[in-house]
Amino acid sequence: MKPRLFCPGPTPVPSEALAASMETAVYHRTGAFYKDLLQCREMLGKLFNSPNLPLILTSSGTGALEAAMSNLTSPDDEAVVLVGGKFGQRWAELAKAFQLKSHVIEIPWGETVTDEVLENLKTTLEENPRVKAVFFHANETSTGVHYPVEKISATIKNHSQALSIVDAVSSVGAHPMEMKKWDIDCVVSGAQKGFGVPPGLSFIALSDKAWSSLSGRSRYYFDLQKERMSQETGATAWTPATTLVAALKQTLLKIDELGGPAAFTEHHALAASAVRKAALAVNLSLFPEADFSNAVTAMKVPEGLDGKKLVAILREKYHAIFAGGQAHLTGKIIRFGHLGFFDALDIIGGMGALELALKEMGHSFELGAGVATVVNEYGRSWSAS
Ligand SMILES: *Cc1c(COP(=O)(O)O)cnc(C)c1O
Repeated sequence: MKPRLFCPGPTPVPSEALAASMETAVYHRTGAFYKDLLQCREMLGKLFNSPNLPLILTSSGTGALEAAMSNLTSPDDEAVVLVGGKFGQRWAELAKAFQLKSHVIEIPWGETVTDEVLENLKTTLEENPRVKAVFFHANETSTGVHYPVEKISATIKNHSQALSIVDAVSSVGAHPMEMKKWDIDCVVSGAQKGFGVPPGLSFIALSDKAWSSLSGRSRYYFDLQKERMSQETGATAWTPATTLVAALKQTLLKIDELGGPAAFTEHHALAASAVRKAALAVNLSLFPEADFSNAVTAMKVPEGLDGKKLVAILREKYHAIFAGGQAHLTGKIIRFGHLGFFDALDIIGGMGALELALKEMGHSFELGAGVATVVNEYGRSWSAS
Protein backbone atom coordinates (compact mmCIF):
# COMPACT_ATOMS: atom_id res chain seq x y z
CA MET A 1 0.00 0.00 0.00
CA LYS A 2 1.28 3.40 -0.98
CA PRO A 3 -0.16 6.44 0.80
CA ARG A 4 -1.05 9.26 -1.58
CA LEU A 5 -1.89 12.84 -0.78
CA PHE A 6 -5.06 14.26 -2.33
CA CYS A 7 -5.49 17.07 0.15
CA PRO A 8 -4.83 20.71 -0.72
CA GLY A 9 -1.56 20.69 1.23
CA PRO A 10 0.71 19.19 2.22
CA THR A 11 1.26 17.96 -1.33
CA PRO A 12 3.48 15.22 -2.79
CA VAL A 13 7.23 15.88 -2.60
CA PRO A 14 9.21 14.92 -5.74
CA SER A 15 12.01 12.43 -5.06
CA GLU A 16 14.76 14.89 -6.13
CA ALA A 17 13.52 17.36 -3.54
CA LEU A 18 13.33 14.71 -0.84
CA ALA A 19 16.86 13.52 -1.63
CA ALA A 20 18.22 17.08 -1.55
CA SER A 21 16.61 17.70 1.83
CA MET A 22 18.42 14.73 3.36
CA GLU A 23 21.76 16.52 3.23
CA THR A 24 21.83 17.94 6.75
CA ALA A 25 25.47 18.98 7.05
CA VAL A 26 24.65 22.47 5.80
CA TYR A 27 25.73 25.67 7.50
CA HIS A 28 23.55 28.62 6.57
CA ARG A 29 26.31 31.22 6.96
CA THR A 30 28.19 30.11 3.85
CA GLY A 31 28.45 31.35 0.29
CA ALA A 32 26.99 28.11 -1.02
CA PHE A 33 23.82 28.52 1.00
CA TYR A 34 23.50 32.23 0.12
CA LYS A 35 23.69 31.29 -3.53
CA ASP A 36 20.92 28.70 -3.17
CA LEU A 37 18.67 31.09 -1.26
CA LEU A 38 19.14 33.82 -3.85
CA GLN A 39 18.45 31.39 -6.66
CA CYS A 40 15.23 30.30 -4.94
CA ARG A 41 14.18 33.94 -4.48
CA GLU A 42 14.81 34.65 -8.18
CA MET A 43 12.76 31.64 -9.27
CA LEU A 44 9.97 32.48 -6.80
CA GLY A 45 9.91 35.98 -8.28
CA LYS A 46 8.99 34.46 -11.64
CA LEU A 47 6.05 32.60 -10.13
CA PHE A 48 4.82 35.68 -8.25
CA ASN A 49 5.68 38.11 -11.07
CA SER A 50 6.60 40.38 -8.19
CA PRO A 51 8.19 43.82 -8.46
CA ASN A 52 10.62 42.87 -5.66
CA LEU A 53 11.97 39.42 -4.92
CA PRO A 54 9.91 37.41 -2.42
CA LEU A 55 11.38 36.74 1.02
CA ILE A 56 11.63 33.18 2.31
CA LEU A 57 10.52 32.74 5.91
CA THR A 58 10.78 29.71 8.14
CA SER A 59 7.18 29.16 9.22
CA SER A 60 3.98 27.66 7.89
CA GLY A 61 1.86 29.89 5.64
CA THR A 62 0.14 31.51 8.59
CA GLY A 63 3.49 32.90 9.75
CA ALA A 64 3.75 34.93 6.56
CA LEU A 65 0.11 36.05 6.96
CA GLU A 66 1.05 37.26 10.41
CA ALA A 67 4.15 38.98 8.99
CA ALA A 68 1.94 40.88 6.53
CA MET A 69 -0.32 41.96 9.39
CA SER A 70 2.41 42.98 11.81
CA ASN A 71 4.62 44.77 9.28
CA LEU A 72 1.96 46.62 7.31
CA THR A 73 -0.56 47.67 9.96
CA SER A 74 -0.62 49.49 13.29
CA PRO A 75 -3.09 49.04 16.17
CA ASP A 76 -6.40 50.82 15.46
CA ASP A 77 -5.79 50.95 11.70
CA GLU A 78 -8.92 50.36 9.69
CA ALA A 79 -8.98 47.39 7.37
CA VAL A 80 -11.39 45.60 5.07
CA VAL A 81 -11.44 41.81 5.16
CA LEU A 82 -13.22 39.61 2.61
CA VAL A 83 -14.47 36.49 4.37
CA GLY A 84 -15.90 33.60 2.36
CA GLY A 85 -14.54 30.57 4.17
CA LYS A 86 -12.25 29.19 6.81
CA PHE A 87 -9.21 31.05 5.51
CA GLY A 88 -11.06 34.33 5.15
CA GLN A 89 -11.91 33.88 8.82
CA ARG A 90 -8.20 33.50 9.51
CA TRP A 91 -7.50 36.96 8.06
CA ALA A 92 -10.34 38.32 10.21
CA GLU A 93 -8.95 36.61 13.32
CA LEU A 94 -5.46 37.92 12.62
CA ALA A 95 -6.86 41.43 12.14
CA LYS A 96 -8.55 41.11 15.51
CA ALA A 97 -5.43 39.73 17.21
CA PHE A 98 -3.48 42.70 15.81
CA GLN A 99 -6.13 45.16 17.04
CA LEU A 100 -7.32 46.42 13.70
CA LYS A 101 -10.75 47.94 13.17
CA SER A 102 -12.14 45.65 10.51
CA HIS A 103 -14.95 46.11 8.07
CA VAL A 104 -15.80 42.52 7.24
CA ILE A 105 -17.44 41.79 3.90
CA GLU A 106 -19.08 38.39 4.08
CA ILE A 107 -19.25 36.20 1.00
CA PRO A 108 -21.45 33.10 1.25
CA TRP A 109 -19.19 30.04 1.49
CA GLY A 110 -18.79 28.47 -1.94
CA GLU A 111 -19.70 31.65 -3.80
CA THR A 112 -17.22 33.84 -5.59
CA VAL A 113 -16.57 37.57 -5.36
CA THR A 114 -19.38 38.69 -7.65
CA ASP A 115 -19.89 42.15 -9.15
CA GLU A 116 -22.25 42.77 -6.25
CA VAL A 117 -19.49 42.01 -3.73
CA LEU A 118 -17.12 44.28 -5.69
CA GLU A 119 -19.74 47.04 -5.52
CA ASN A 120 -19.98 46.50 -1.77
CA LEU A 121 -16.19 46.69 -1.51
CA LYS A 122 -16.15 49.92 -3.50
CA THR A 123 -18.82 51.51 -1.28
CA THR A 124 -17.05 50.36 1.89
CA LEU A 125 -13.77 51.89 0.68
CA GLU A 126 -15.40 55.16 -0.38
CA GLU A 127 -17.25 55.49 2.91
CA ASN A 128 -14.12 54.71 4.92
CA PRO A 129 -11.24 56.59 3.31
CA ARG A 130 -8.94 55.79 6.24
CA VAL A 131 -8.83 52.08 5.41
CA LYS A 132 -5.16 51.10 5.43
CA ALA A 133 -5.37 47.66 3.86
CA VAL A 134 -7.72 45.16 2.25
CA PHE A 135 -7.09 41.50 3.06
CA PHE A 136 -8.43 38.86 0.71
CA HIS A 137 -7.68 35.52 -0.94
CA ALA A 138 -6.70 34.07 -4.26
CA ASN A 139 -7.98 30.54 -3.47
CA GLU A 140 -10.38 30.10 -0.59
CA THR A 141 -9.06 26.57 -0.03
CA SER A 142 -11.91 25.59 2.30
CA THR A 143 -14.54 25.96 -0.42
CA GLY A 144 -12.61 25.39 -3.66
CA VAL A 145 -13.29 28.88 -5.04
CA HIS A 146 -10.69 31.00 -6.82
CA TYR A 147 -11.55 34.66 -6.39
CA PRO A 148 -11.02 37.14 -9.24
CA VAL A 149 -7.82 38.63 -7.80
CA GLU A 150 -7.25 41.08 -10.63
CA LYS A 151 -10.74 42.59 -10.37
CA ILE A 152 -10.57 42.84 -6.58
CA SER A 153 -7.22 44.58 -6.77
CA ALA A 154 -8.50 46.99 -9.45
CA THR A 155 -11.49 47.87 -7.25
CA ILE A 156 -9.17 48.60 -4.33
CA LYS A 157 -6.82 50.72 -6.44
CA ASN A 158 -9.60 52.65 -8.18
CA HIS A 159 -11.45 53.58 -5.02
CA SER A 160 -8.88 53.92 -2.24
CA GLN A 161 -5.29 54.38 -1.16
CA ALA A 162 -5.40 51.06 0.69
CA LEU A 163 -2.83 48.30 0.34
CA SER A 164 -4.08 45.11 -1.32
CA ILE A 165 -2.87 42.07 0.58
CA VAL A 166 -3.49 38.62 -0.87
CA ASP A 167 -3.31 35.21 0.76
CA ALA A 168 -2.24 33.16 -2.25
CA VAL A 169 -0.94 30.27 -0.14
CA SER A 170 -2.73 27.58 -2.15
CA SER A 171 -2.80 29.55 -5.37
CA VAL A 172 0.72 30.38 -6.55
CA GLY A 173 1.72 27.68 -9.05
CA ALA A 174 -1.86 26.56 -9.65
CA HIS A 175 -3.12 29.90 -10.97
CA PRO A 176 -1.35 32.81 -12.61
CA MET A 177 -0.12 35.42 -10.15
CA GLU A 178 0.64 38.76 -11.81
CA MET A 179 1.55 40.78 -8.77
CA LYS A 180 3.14 43.63 -10.72
CA LYS A 181 0.59 43.84 -13.54
CA TRP A 182 -2.36 43.61 -11.15
CA ASP A 183 -0.80 46.18 -8.82
CA ILE A 184 -0.95 44.03 -5.69
CA ASP A 185 0.97 45.23 -2.64
CA CYS A 186 1.58 42.00 -0.79
CA VAL A 187 1.34 38.33 -1.78
CA VAL A 188 1.82 35.44 0.63
CA SER A 189 2.36 31.77 -0.21
CA GLY A 190 3.53 28.55 1.40
CA ALA A 191 5.92 25.72 0.49
CA GLN A 192 3.66 22.76 1.25
CA LYS A 193 1.04 23.80 -1.31
CA GLY A 194 1.94 24.44 -4.95
CA PHE A 195 5.66 24.10 -4.34
CA GLY A 196 5.87 20.40 -3.43
CA VAL A 197 8.06 20.99 -0.38
CA PRO A 198 7.33 19.57 3.09
CA PRO A 199 5.70 22.13 5.44
CA GLY A 200 7.85 24.79 7.08
CA LEU A 201 8.62 27.57 4.59
CA SER A 202 6.48 30.55 3.65
CA PHE A 203 6.98 33.29 1.09
CA ILE A 204 6.05 36.94 1.08
CA ALA A 205 6.51 39.58 -1.61
CA LEU A 206 5.92 43.31 -1.16
CA SER A 207 5.44 46.13 -3.67
CA ASP A 208 7.44 49.37 -3.44
CA LYS A 209 4.37 51.01 -1.96
CA ALA A 210 4.17 48.31 0.73
CA TRP A 211 7.89 48.62 1.50
CA SER A 212 7.44 52.33 2.01
CA SER A 213 4.36 51.79 4.22
CA LEU A 214 5.96 49.62 6.91
CA SER A 215 4.27 50.28 10.24
CA GLY A 216 5.89 51.36 13.49
CA ARG A 217 4.33 48.43 15.33
CA SER A 218 6.79 46.44 17.44
CA ARG A 219 7.72 43.00 16.13
CA TYR A 220 10.67 40.69 16.33
CA TYR A 221 10.88 37.32 14.52
CA PHE A 222 8.88 38.46 11.49
CA ASP A 223 10.66 41.76 10.93
CA LEU A 224 10.50 42.04 7.15
CA GLN A 225 12.88 44.99 6.92
CA LYS A 226 15.53 43.06 8.83
CA GLU A 227 14.82 39.98 6.73
CA ARG A 228 15.07 41.98 3.52
CA MET A 229 18.46 43.44 4.46
CA SER A 230 19.78 39.94 5.12
CA GLN A 231 18.19 38.24 2.14
CA GLU A 232 19.59 40.76 -0.30
CA THR A 233 22.83 38.79 -0.01
CA GLY A 234 21.20 35.38 0.48
CA ALA A 235 21.62 35.38 4.24
CA THR A 236 18.62 35.16 6.58
CA ALA A 237 17.86 37.01 9.81
CA TRP A 238 17.51 33.74 11.73
CA THR A 239 18.47 30.12 11.15
CA PRO A 240 16.41 29.06 8.14
CA ALA A 241 15.01 25.57 7.51
CA THR A 242 18.04 24.67 5.36
CA THR A 243 16.75 21.22 4.44
CA LEU A 244 13.54 22.74 3.08
CA VAL A 245 15.40 25.39 1.12
CA ALA A 246 17.37 22.56 -0.52
CA ALA A 247 14.08 20.84 -1.40
CA LEU A 248 12.61 24.11 -2.69
CA LYS A 249 15.51 24.69 -5.03
CA GLN A 250 14.84 21.29 -6.60
CA THR A 251 11.12 21.79 -7.05
CA LEU A 252 11.57 25.28 -8.49
CA LEU A 253 14.13 23.89 -10.97
CA LYS A 254 11.61 21.21 -11.82
CA ILE A 255 8.94 23.81 -12.58
CA ASP A 256 11.41 25.43 -15.00
CA GLU A 257 12.12 22.04 -16.56
CA LEU A 258 8.39 21.41 -17.01
CA GLY A 259 8.10 24.58 -19.06
CA GLY A 260 7.94 27.34 -16.46
CA PRO A 261 5.08 28.94 -14.54
CA ALA A 262 2.57 29.03 -17.42
CA ALA A 263 2.98 25.31 -18.17
CA PHE A 264 2.73 24.52 -14.46
CA THR A 265 -0.54 26.44 -14.19
CA GLU A 266 -1.82 24.64 -17.28
CA HIS A 267 -1.05 21.29 -15.63
CA HIS A 268 -3.28 22.32 -12.71
CA ALA A 269 -6.07 23.64 -14.94
CA LEU A 270 -6.24 20.37 -16.87
CA ALA A 271 -6.39 18.21 -13.73
CA ALA A 272 -9.03 20.46 -12.16
CA SER A 273 -11.19 20.36 -15.26
CA ALA A 274 -10.87 16.55 -15.51
CA VAL A 275 -11.82 16.11 -11.84
CA ARG A 276 -14.85 18.39 -12.16
CA LYS A 277 -16.16 16.49 -15.18
CA ALA A 278 -15.47 13.16 -13.48
CA ALA A 279 -17.35 14.30 -10.37
CA LEU A 280 -20.43 15.01 -12.47
CA ALA A 281 -20.02 11.63 -14.21
CA VAL A 282 -20.33 9.84 -10.86
CA ASN A 283 -23.41 11.84 -9.84
CA LEU A 284 -21.69 14.22 -7.49
CA SER A 285 -22.36 17.92 -7.59
CA LEU A 286 -19.72 20.56 -7.20
CA PHE A 287 -19.79 22.82 -4.17
CA PRO A 288 -18.85 26.11 -5.89
CA GLU A 289 -20.99 27.31 -8.78
CA ALA A 290 -18.33 29.39 -10.51
CA ASP A 291 -14.68 30.39 -10.38
CA PHE A 292 -13.45 26.91 -9.57
CA SER A 293 -9.99 26.60 -8.07
CA ASN A 294 -7.30 24.80 -10.05
CA ALA A 295 -5.81 23.61 -6.75
CA VAL A 296 -8.73 21.81 -5.16
CA THR A 297 -12.15 20.58 -6.22
CA ALA A 298 -14.86 20.66 -3.56
CA MET A 299 -17.72 18.23 -4.15
CA LYS A 300 -20.92 17.86 -2.18
CA VAL A 301 -21.26 14.60 -0.29
CA PRO A 302 -24.52 13.01 -1.53
CA GLU A 303 -27.55 13.44 0.72
CA GLY A 304 -27.75 10.66 3.31
CA LEU A 305 -24.05 9.74 3.16
CA ASP A 306 -21.63 10.47 5.97
CA GLY A 307 -18.81 12.59 4.54
CA LYS A 308 -16.48 11.91 7.44
CA LYS A 309 -16.89 8.20 6.84
CA LEU A 310 -16.17 8.67 3.14
CA VAL A 311 -12.88 10.43 3.92
CA ALA A 312 -12.06 7.72 6.49
CA ILE A 313 -12.68 4.86 4.02
CA LEU A 314 -10.51 6.56 1.43
CA ARG A 315 -7.72 7.00 3.94
CA GLU A 316 -7.91 3.65 5.72
CA LYS A 317 -8.77 1.32 2.89
CA TYR A 318 -7.11 3.00 -0.09
CA HIS A 319 -4.46 5.11 1.65
CA ALA A 320 -5.80 8.02 -0.39
CA ILE A 321 -5.72 11.10 1.81
CA PHE A 322 -8.54 13.45 0.85
CA ALA A 323 -9.77 16.42 2.87
CA GLY A 324 -13.27 16.78 4.24
CA GLY A 325 -15.10 20.01 4.92
CA GLN A 326 -14.24 22.46 7.68
CA ALA A 327 -16.51 24.25 10.19
CA HIS A 328 -20.19 23.96 9.17
CA LEU A 329 -19.14 22.06 6.04
CA THR A 330 -17.76 19.15 8.11
CA GLY A 331 -19.16 15.94 6.64
CA LYS A 332 -20.93 17.90 3.88
CA ILE A 333 -18.19 18.24 1.27
CA ILE A 334 -15.13 16.32 0.19
CA ARG A 335 -12.10 18.11 -1.25
CA PHE A 336 -9.91 16.57 -3.93
CA GLY A 337 -6.58 18.40 -3.98
CA HIS A 338 -4.62 18.55 -7.25
CA LEU A 339 -1.84 20.85 -6.28
CA GLY A 340 1.89 20.86 -6.95
CA PHE A 341 3.68 17.74 -8.14
CA PHE A 342 0.99 15.21 -9.01
CA ASP A 343 0.57 13.62 -12.43
CA ALA A 344 -2.16 12.13 -14.59
CA LEU A 345 -1.82 8.70 -12.96
CA ASP A 346 -2.38 10.27 -9.54
CA ILE A 347 -5.61 11.85 -10.74
CA ILE A 348 -6.78 8.58 -12.33
CA GLY A 349 -5.94 6.70 -9.12
CA GLY A 350 -7.55 9.28 -6.87
CA MET A 351 -10.74 9.22 -8.89
CA GLY A 352 -10.73 5.42 -8.84
CA ALA A 353 -10.41 5.35 -5.06
CA LEU A 354 -13.18 7.92 -4.71
CA GLU A 355 -15.46 5.80 -6.88
CA LEU A 356 -14.75 2.62 -4.93
CA ALA A 357 -15.43 4.35 -1.61
CA LEU A 358 -18.65 5.94 -2.90
CA LYS A 359 -19.84 2.54 -4.20
CA GLU A 360 -19.10 0.92 -0.86
CA MET A 361 -21.27 3.55 0.81
CA GLY A 362 -24.16 2.87 -1.53
CA HIS A 363 -24.00 5.92 -3.80
CA SER A 364 -25.63 5.23 -7.13
CA PHE A 365 -23.61 5.71 -10.34
CA GLU A 366 -21.89 3.66 -13.00
CA LEU A 367 -18.61 2.38 -11.55
CA GLY A 368 -15.68 3.46 -13.70
CA ALA A 369 -17.44 6.49 -15.21
CA GLY A 370 -15.25 8.94 -13.32
CA VAL A 371 -11.97 7.24 -14.20
CA ALA A 372 -13.07 6.99 -17.85
CA THR A 373 -13.81 10.70 -17.85
CA VAL A 374 -10.38 11.56 -16.44
CA VAL A 375 -8.63 9.26 -18.93
CA ASN A 376 -10.59 10.79 -21.81
CA GLU A 377 -9.83 14.33 -20.68
CA TYR A 378 -6.10 13.64 -20.55
CA GLY A 379 -6.25 11.71 -23.83
CA ARG A 380 -8.02 14.56 -25.59
CA SER A 381 -5.68 17.19 -24.26
CA TRP A 382 -2.55 15.22 -25.08
CA SER A 383 -3.61 14.31 -28.59
CA ALA A 384 -4.37 17.99 -29.24
CA SER A 385 -0.94 19.15 -28.13
C1 LIG B 1 -2.92 26.18 3.66
C2 LIG B 1 -3.36 27.59 3.66
C3 LIG B 1 -2.85 28.53 4.56
C4 LIG B 1 -1.70 28.29 5.49
O1 LIG B 1 -1.86 27.41 6.44
P1 LIG B 1 -0.62 26.89 7.29
O2 LIG B 1 -1.18 25.70 7.93
O3 LIG B 1 -0.25 27.95 8.23
O4 LIG B 1 0.49 26.62 6.32
C5 LIG B 1 -3.29 29.83 4.50
N1 LIG B 1 -4.19 30.21 3.60
C6 LIG B 1 -4.69 29.35 2.70
C7 LIG B 1 -5.65 29.86 1.70
C8 LIG B 1 -4.30 28.02 2.69
O5 LIG B 1 -4.78 27.17 1.79
